[in-house]
Amino acid sequence: MIDLTLERLRADGQAFTEDISRESYLAHSGHKAAAEFTPIYDRYADVLGEEALDLTVELFKGTADGTEEHRSAGMLLEWQLESQASRSLAELDERETEWESSAIITTTEGRQLQYQAAAIEIANEKDRAQRLMLDDARSELVEREHAPLRLERLQREKEYIESLGLATDYNAAFEEITGVSLGKLAVDCAAFLRDTQAMWDETLPRHLRKSLGIKPGEATRADALALLRASEYDGGFPGGMLQGSVARQLREMNIDPSAGGRIIYDVAERPGKRARAFCAPTRVPEEVYLVLRRHGGQNDYAALLHESGHALHFANVRDDYPFEYRWLGDNSVTESYAMLFDHRMQDRGWLLRYTELGKGNIEDFLRLAGFEEIHYIRRYCAKLIYEVEAYGTRGDWNALPDLYVDTLTNATTFQYKRADAFVDFDARYYSTRYLRAWQLQALLSECLVEQFDQDWYRNPAAGPWMIGELWSEGQRETAEEIAARIRVGSDPLSFAPLIRNIEKLLAG
Ligand SMILES: [Zn+2]
Repeated sequence: MIDLTLERLRADGQAFTEDISRESYLAHSGHKAAAEFTPIYDRYADVLGEEALDLTVELFKGTADGTEEHRSAGMLLEWQLESQASRSLAELDERETEWESSAIITTTEGRQLQYQAAAIEIANEKDRAQRLMLDDARSELVEREHAPLRLERLQREKEYIESLGLATDYNAAFEEITGVSLGKLAVDCAAFLRDTQAMWDETLPRHLRKSLGIKPGEATRADALALLRASEYDGGFPGGMLQGSVARQLREMNIDPSAGGRIIYDVAERPGKRARAFCAPTRVPEEVYLVLRRHGGQNDYAALLHESGHALHFANVRDDYPFEYRWLGDNSVTESYAMLFDHRMQDRGWLLRYTELGKGNIEDFLRLAGFEEIHYIRRYCAKLIYEVEAYGTRGDWNALPDLYVDTLTNATTFQYKRADAFVDFDARYYSTRYLRAWQLQALLSECLVEQFDQDWYRNPAAGPWMIGELWSEGQRETAEEIAARIRVGSDPLSFAPLIRNIEKLLAG
């Protein structure tokens, strides 16, 4: 290839990223039966070759810490590594997507369901024996067919990154390039688990007894899905009001829910559509898809709020920013905007204004929201601790399923299954993005209350502030930099404000 320049890398890199994103959107939303990534990787071989990687390594090593050039170079290098690793794994990813969208679970009683809809059906199953039977059938299929695909992917990705010799091992390479300290975060997570243990032990039995009529010792992860589905509150969250309520709130804070037509909502039921909602920017900021498969009740409200945060962020990025600031960077940032919105499900004023929950249910619901919050953060802390061990492993992958079950079950009390050790795994440390987003979201929320009052979500000055101060910047800054900018003199990112919030919610 001739003369790969930074400009060329940006232009072709953007075109490649757009094509991959569009293909993922089509396949994961059920519009296409299978994703075809390989032809895309072939088409952009020039920006995914050795020369491109060398160029970004050179830029990263040849620019001074703290400069704008170094910031850009770090993002481009991380993207190169991820894309080059994915290129060598494209065939495996295609096989996995095709498998996921066609796999069928069959229980011992002959009941059949789509693999993609398993989480929805398990959460909605009121009969506990049926629920456990569904989950047994699901996990047998996972162990036999899905787990081997995911294990192979993890092993090959780790081998690829380590073969480049950027640092001593996978974990060190991640820390060097992203600037995120895995060691510190794992220590903070262990502290969070300790600090909230007593609160957890006190609150869990009450919710299990009240919602499912069972004791902590017998509860499984399938029960957790049913408990958190909270179908007893479905009347408060009618499906018919879902989109209208969220759109009304956004308009009240002076935000166009479709961002001038740049956001496209895909909420129709379709076979092959993923159970987990997602946002797929296919051009930033011009074309952003928000994809939701309905579960029913509060889950859908939380999912729509979350994905709206992502979609509004991407659709409002400055269009004069370079590729890396619009598309790449620290995903804790976009996750924090998503969480800022989904945390309205813990906000008394928001719930009373935009749902049918009503005053009679609000206290109980907020206590449940506190329970959910402590559960999810404890689960993610355990996941991060497990994943650091897993990526740091020196070859003994067989030991990981037991470690996974121990770590996750200890943190959440719910019994986890060995089959999920490689499926319930955030590749490339996406769990660090969620955990830091949780922390940043708590600071953003405090900042919004100070500037725009308790009901900032309907303050017409708050929307334009968010667009101007936060979203338009894309992900140019890291989560730490945004925290420092908006909360001058505040503590750095930590779990402290989250613990305060949980205490408040649980106290009622
Ligand atoms: Zn998200």
